[in-house]
This record gives sequence, C-alpha cells and structure tokens, in this order.
Amino acid sequence: MPQPDLTAVRDQLDSDRAELTRQLGELVTDGAAGDVDENFADTAQVAAEQVESRTLAATLQDQLADIESALARIDDGTYGTCEVCEKEIGAARLEAMPSARSCIDHA
Ligand SMILES: [Zn+2]
Repeated sequence: MPQPDLTAVRDQLDSDRAELTRQLGELVTDGAAGDVDENFADTAQVAAEQVESRTLAATLQDQLADIESALARIDDGTYGTCEVCEKEIGAARLEAMPSARSCIDHA
C-alpha cells in the first residue's frame, strides 16, 4: 500500500484547525455582543440565535476534535487506520476527509 503523504496531510489539518479555531472565536465574540443587547432585543429571536450558535459551535468543536485526533495519530504512527477495526482507511476516503477516524464501513 502506498503511504499517504503525511507532511501534506499535516499541513492540511493544521490549516483546517486554524480555520475552525478562527470560526469558533467569531462565535464566542458574537455571543458576547448578544449579551450586551439582551434587554433591547426580541428574546425569542435571541434565544433562537443562541441555540443556532451553540449547535454550530458544537459541530465545529467536533470537527476540531477529529483534527486533533488525526494529528495525534500522525505523531504515533497510527494515522490512516480505522479506530474500530484497525484496518486501513482507503486513500480516497482520507483524501476527501483527512480527519476521518474510521473506515467507510464504520463511518
Ligand atoms: Zn473499520
């Protein structure tokens, strides 16, 4: 099996991580601004926006965790293997999703 180019993968994961961290930072900033306006805004709308922000933040944090995990697995030499069955994750799948933790059967 050809080994994936881990240097390129790590660069990709690093830049994805930076982008996710930036997006999470913006969400936190928006939330803080929302608190300031709380007394003036329509409460239901504010609540809906806060739920939306939290949902988005949770999604971003999940993606960030996957990326951190992938970087850790590059370091310990287990990158590219499924966390469930420990078989190799296909190269095409890794290319489409460098932070994949599991093979297509265990996605
Ligand atoms: Zn598997």
